[in-house]
Order: sequence, then C-alpha cells, then structure tokens
Amino acid sequence: MIVLEVSIPVPLNKNFYYLPPESINPEYVVGKRVRVQFGKRTLTGYAVSSLNIEGNNSLKLKRIIEIIDKDSLITCETMELANYISKNYVCSLGEALASIISVSMKPPKRISKVKNTPTELVQERHILNIDQNKAVNLINKSLEKNIYTSFLLHGVTASGKTEVYINAIEYALKQNKTAIMLIPEISLTPQFVYVMTKRFGLKVGVWHSGISNIEKYKLFSKAKSIDIKIMIGARSAIFTPFENLGLIVIDEEHEHTYKQEQKPSYDAREIAKWRGNYHNAVVVLGSATPSLESYKDALENKINLIELNERIDGKELPEVKVVSLKNRFFKSSLLLSETVDAISKALSRKEQVIVFLNRRGYSPVIMCRKCASVYQCPKCSISMVFHRNPDSLKCHYCGETKSLPVACSACKSREVTVFGTGTQKVEDELKKLFKTARIFRLDGDTASLKENYEKAYNGIKNGEYDILLGTQMIAKGFDFPRVSLACVIDADTSLHLPGFKSVEKTFQLITQVAGRSGRGDIRGSVIVQTNLPNHYAIEHAKNHDFVSFYNVEIEQRKKLFYPPYCDVAKISIRNKDEKKAAKDSEKLISFLEELVKSYKLGLKLLGPVSAYISKLNNIYRKHIIIKGERENILKLAIFLDNFKQSWGTLIGIEIMPTDLI
Ligand SMILES: [Zn+2]
Ligand SMILES: [Zn+2]
Repeated sequence: MIVLEVSIPVPLNKNFYYLPPESINPEYVVGKRVRVQFGKRTLTGYAVSSLNIEGNNSLKLKRIIEIIDKDSLITCETMELANYISKNYVCSLGEALASIISVSMKPPKRISKVKNTPTELVQERHILNIDQNKAVNLINKSLEKNIYTSFLLHGVTASGKTEVYINAIEYALKQNKTAIMLIPEISLTPQFVYVMTKRFGLKVGVWHSGISNIEKYKLFSKAKSIDIKIMIGARSAIFTPFENLGLIVIDEEHEHTYKQEQKPSYDAREIAKWRGNYHNAVVVLGSATPSLESYKDALENKINLIELNERIDGKELPEVKVVSLKNRFFKSSLLLSETVDAISKALSRKEQVIVFLNRRGYSPVIMCRKCASVYQCPKCSISMVFHRNPDSLKCHYCGETKSLPVACSACKSREVTVFGTGTQKVEDELKKLFKTARIFRLDGDTASLKENYEKAYNGIKNGEYDILLGTQMIAKGFDFPRVSLACVIDADTSLHLPGFKSVEKTFQLITQVAGRSGRGDIRGSVIVQTNLPNHYAIEHAKNHDFVSFYNVEIEQRKKLFYPPYCDVAKISIRNKDEKKAAKDSEKLISFLEELVKSYKLGLKLLGPVSAYISKLNNIYRKHIIIKGERENILKLAIFLDNFKQSWGTLIGIEIMPTDLI
C-alpha cells in the first residue's frame, strides 16, 4: 500500500502519513501542498514523499482532503533548505517548509493569459566612476567563474551602490542566470521597482507582505518557470524558487528586518549564503553602515570587501551639525531654534526637508502631575501612547485602544497630562511654524494604507511635498535629489534601549538619515538633536567615520563577550501566571545548566530575567540568554522539548536574535 508522507507546520519533529484522495495516484501528490485533517483541525501540509507500507497499517490512515497545487512546488533544494532551517533555527521540518513555501499562497481559479504590456525600457546608462567600475568588474568576474563568492559592498551614502547592483544583475541575466534583490523596508519598494523596471521591464517581480495570496502564487510560478528573472522584495523573497540563481543582492544588509523574530527565526543573510553556495552564485551584501558581524568577516577575509569611499560625481557628504538638547528639556517645542532656522532657509530656497523621529503617535507618556504615576497599557508593562485624530491612547505592542483618562487612577487627581513627542506632535508643530509648507507624514500609522508608500515616494520625487516627516521608514535608502536638509529630532531614542546593539543601531540610523541629504546638486546638511552630543556613536556619525566607530564598538563587544565574538540565543518563557513563569524559568535554567555541564558544551547561561516588556498582552515573559558557540547552542536546544513545564507555559528559542531584551 502506498501512502504519503506529509510535513505539517506544527512544532512536532516528525512527518505524518495520509492516503491519497480516492482514485488518485500517490505520485501525483508528491511535492504539492495538501489539506489534511490533523486532530480536530484542518491544516495545510506538504506532501514530501510517498512510501510503501506493508500489511494493513494503512487502514487506520485518513485520506488527504484536497490537493491544493496543480504543479509540484517542492524541489530537492526546498527539502535541503528546509532541513538546514529546521536544524539551525530549531523548528520542525513542516515549520521550515512553511517559511519557504507559504501555506496561504493560493492558486488562481483560472489561469488567465498574462497580457504583456511592454513598458518602455530606458537604456540610458549612468557612466560608472572608477570605484563603481572596479566593484562591478570584481562581481562580474565571480559570476563568470560559477563559484560561490560573497562580497561586502561598503559604500558611503549616495556612492552609487544601486548602480553597481543593476550592472551586476544585468551581467547575471546575460549569462542566463536569475537574481534576487532584497530591500529592508516595504516603503522602499516603489523606488526600487521604478528603477528596476525602467531597466529590466517585465523581467522583474515584486514580493512583499502587501501582495495578495493569489498574486504570490502567480509570482512563485513565474519564478519557477523563469518568466521573471529578477525578484525584488522583503526578507521572504530570499526563497524565490529560481533554479538558475546567479546573484543575490542584499541592500542595507545591516538592517534587523532581515532577521525573522518569529519561529523559524531565520536570517535572510544566512539563507542567502546557503543558497549562494547551493547554486554556485554570488552574494553581495551592501551597506553604508555594515553590521559589525559582516565588517569583521570582511577584515578576516571571510567575505570580500569592496569599498566605495566617495559620493558619485564628486558630491560632498553633508555637513552634520549636532545640537544639544541639554537644559532645554522643558521648552514647549522639541524643535530647537537652530533646526527651525535651517528648515525655514531650506524651504525658502524651494528645497526639500526630511524630518526623522523614531516614535509615532502624539505623545508617548501620559502622566499624573500630582503623583507622577504613568499610565500603562492594562495588558502590557509599557506606557500607552497618546494619538490625535481621533484622540485616543494606543498600545504599540498589543494594539489596545483606550480613551484618555479624565482622572489619575492612583490619586484621582484631574491633572493628567501628556509628555514627550511623537511624529503627530512634530507634524502639528511643523504646520504651525511653516504654514504654507506641504507636509507628508509616513509612519506606522499612515503606512497601514499601502498606497501611502507610493504617495510619499511619488509626492516627494515630483515636488508635491516640501517636508517628509516620519519614523525609520524614511531613514534608509530613499533617493530624492531635492532634499538638502535632514533633521534628526531625537537621536537618543534608540540609545536608551538596553540591547547590545543599541549603540550600533543609533550610529546606523543617524548615518542613514544624514545620507538622505544632498544627493542632488545642492550640498546637503544635517541637524542632529541629542542629549548626548559627545557620545561616540553620534560623534563618528557626524564625521561619517564608520571605521572609527567600528574600532570602538568592536572592542566593547569583545570586552563584554557579545556577537560577533560569540553566538547567542534567547529562550523565552511565557505564562499568564506570573509565578508560574518565574518558577519555570528557574527550573529551566538549572535543567540547562546540568546539561551544559554533563555534555561539556562550554556555554554561558544568563538569567532568568524579566523581558524588557515583562508583560505583553497579559502574558508574563522571562528570558534566559545563552552565549557560546552556535553548534553547542543547537545541541542544547534539542533538549528543550524534554523540559517538563507547568501548565500553560510556552517555551521558545530564538537563535541569533538581534536583541536580547
Ligand atoms: Zn498593550
Ligand atoms: Zn496621580
């Protein structure tokens, strides 16, 4: 009797057996997604193989309810990659498969012939400068060799990295290969799609969380049949099923968005290296502010370093002015007079301005003036944020919404006020100060409407707006030649987070925001408002000096034994009951410490500590941190399944998290 082996995205490390639907050849089902009864639920699984079982064992098996796909989607590479993910990020094969081939992707009812409306291809070529030429030649040579090679393209902002990518992609296509290009932020999609389709027309596919499940299926099929040759997209585009993959580009490689936080907590950069190796392809990681990990790899010759030290066309890097917020805290406005002057001058010259603040909403703190108690989300241990239009309090973590309290819940005083500044408040201030300026705000609130990305991009490009205000969405990658001023309203927001990457992130953010300025004919300038004007992250960002920053920061990591000097994992212990969460985390750490000792794993365990947000959505969260070698961390992780926890406790592990808080 032939049965089908099905991988199901549940946290169980085994496959399950099903019979094919009545009168269907089992071989026809292999490689496809199927609907199956699993316990009381109906789930989507992956028919990974068929096998012959003897006797009547098959009598008890259930039949597959439905075959979802017409064509087989699972290849040999898919299986090998799923195994790699399952092992390296500690998840089941089914969970790994679900990250490669989404369960929700939906085949269209009828396959309509795609109308090819050819866009006009612009063959205008930017002439590459000497550095760009050198970079392209190095990459192209590797493309010819058909050996896996990886590069770190470290180029200052506006040094023309995109043009290097385009030339390399073009060369890959010439060799009948395909290319994947990852971008860190969905807000950048319109810009890259514009640039790439102008050059490559219909060969380009675009993949991100905003596209429909049917559209995803179509793109997946087109990539498989090489009807498209380039895929641009966010993190999960790394799984594009190209079979003759020649080149993978990861732009702004330092961005944390390339790391998935949920299970499986894969890192698109590691997947890129794996696929590069599998296909003998070239991997290019590009950034103006490389991650410490990648730059260290480059200095140790584990990855080839290419540097672009100059902006294109001999443009100068913008002048960065750091202004101290010290002693000015209680002023009613968060825009210092220097900043207001600079904006007003830029606007009077008909130039554009970018204003960056990494905090959305109106005011992040609601406090009682009498007893100083802070209003927190009832479900989470974090302050709710005051939003305008309509006036409400929102929790940015669980989504809870409340109206502004009339009286303090602790002392009943009516003197409840809001403190601090978010993007909405800055917008109000800008509107008051610059009455005729046209302002576009792009942050987590406005960006919930997908068309707002395009509106922001096209609006700024075509000069319909004077000021682009927003959170990290506007900090990276945008290329607007008329922007001559970039303002960082509060450089310290990220510095105050207790993660080991906080300083690195701050340096990256300031450098990236600064990089938006002066990309056209006008020399740019930048204003950074901060309470810590002498902090090394801010000083080195002011001087556009990545290498000096790297040298200081890498010493810190070495001293404190953090990545890249060790590998890390974060175990999270969650329970609705605070005591159970605490008890289980204590029990778990002694259990793990025993294992570390008896198997001589040489790992350091830290904790348990309460998570930075110790209660989220009414669930208490504790962390245990593991430091040491990846291989040994994975050995230890296998035992997590054996740990007997209390009822309701959930234990998860994230391998190489971007923060430990
Ligand atoms: Zn909440
Ligand atoms: Zn009070």
